[in-house]
Amino acid sequence: MNETHYFDYAPQEKLCILYTFKCTAACGHCITKSNMERHEKLDILKAKEIMDTALEFNKKVVILSGGEVFLYYEELLELTRYAANAGLDVLIETNGFWASDTDETLKKLAALKENGLVVLFVSYDAFHSPYIPFSNINRIMDAAESIGLKHEIMFTRSDSPGEDAIILEKLTKASYEMFEDELLPFGRAGKFFNASAKKEYDDLGCCESITTTFLPNGDVFSCCNISDENWMLKKTPMYLGNIFNGPIRDMFQMEKTNCFLKIITSETRIKEFVEFLKDQGYHQELEKQYFTICDLCMELAANQCFTKLAEKFKCEKDDTYGI
Ligand code: SF4
Ligand code: SF4
Repeated sequence: MNETHYFDYAPQEKLCILYTFKCTAACGHCITKSNMERHEKLDILKAKEIMDTALEFNKKVVILSGGEVFLYYEELLELTRYAANAGLDVLIETNGFWASDTDETLKKLAALKENGLVVLFVSYDAFHSPYIPFSNINRIMDAAESIGLKHEIMFTRSDSPGEDAIILEKLTKASYEMFEDELLPFGRAGKFFNASAKKEYDDLGCCESITTTFLPNGDVFSCCNISDENWMLKKTPMYLGNIFNGPIRDMFQMEKTNCFLKIITSETRIKEFVEFLKDQGYHQELEKQYFTICDLCMELAANQCFTKLAEKFKCEKDDTYGI
C-alpha cells in the first residue's frame, strides 16, 4: 500500500465539497448513507462561491466528492475547470460506475485532466464490488495511466477477511497504487464496530482528516468524515454553520481560530489534553477504550465541559505550542 496522495497537502490546505448525496451504490459502510433515493445536491454557483472564498483562506486543493459526483459529469467538468483556473488543485473521488466503455472512459478522464484534475481516487473493496464490476476499475486505471493522470484505489477492509483477500489479490496483481482507508464509526459503518476492536486512547494516533467540508444541505464541518445525520457532530466545535444561514467567509474564519482542532490533529497534544482533563477530575469519563481516533474525538468534542477546558488548556500551553 502506498502513502495516499491525500497527504500531499496539509490538512489546513484542504477543502472538500460533497457535491451530492446521490449515489449509484449503497455500500454497507457508507458514512453519508448515500444511495439512488437521495437527491440532495449543491448548486453549481454555490460550489464556485465556496471555492472563491476558500482561496482567501489559503486553501490549495479541492476534493470533489459525494455521493457520486460523476452522476453530474458536465457540472463536475465545469467545477474542475473553474477550480483550476482559480488556482486550486482538484482531486476527485468516484466509485467508477461510469466506466463501462473503454473509449468513453478515456474521453471523460482526458477532459477532466485537460481542465485541471490532479488525482483521481477510485473506491474499490468488498463494500463496492457488489455494485461496480472490476472491469470498470481496470478501464479507469488503464485510461488514467495512459494519459499520465495520478490515480489511486481507496480500499477499506470489511468484516469478511476472505472477500477482502480475494479483492486485495486482484488489486495487487494489477499493481495498482492503493491506499487502505480506515472504517469509521459513522453512518452505515457504525454497525461494523464491536468491543474487541477498541484501543487505549494513547494508541489511537491523531486526526489526519481535518478538511473544511461542505455538505449538499449547506452544513459545513471541519471534518470530512460526516453525514447530514450526524447530529452529535453538530454539537461540537467541528460544526462551522450552514451556508444558507450566514456568510461562507465566517465559517472559514471560525475554523482558523478553533483550538479544539489544533489539539485533535496532534498526537502529543491529544495525550496531554486527556491527561489535563484527568487532572481536572474527569478520570472516570476518560478511562475507557475507543474504536478509532474519531471515537475519542466525538467523546471529547461532544462534551461541552471538555471543549471549554480546551480553551484553558490552550492558555496554559500557548507558549509551548503556539495554539
Ligand atoms: S461509499 Fe461511496 S460509492 Fe458507496 S454508497 Fe457511499 S458514496 Fe456511494
Ligand atoms: S478525529 Fe474528529 S475531526 Fe478527525 S475525522 Fe475523526 S471525527 Fe473528524
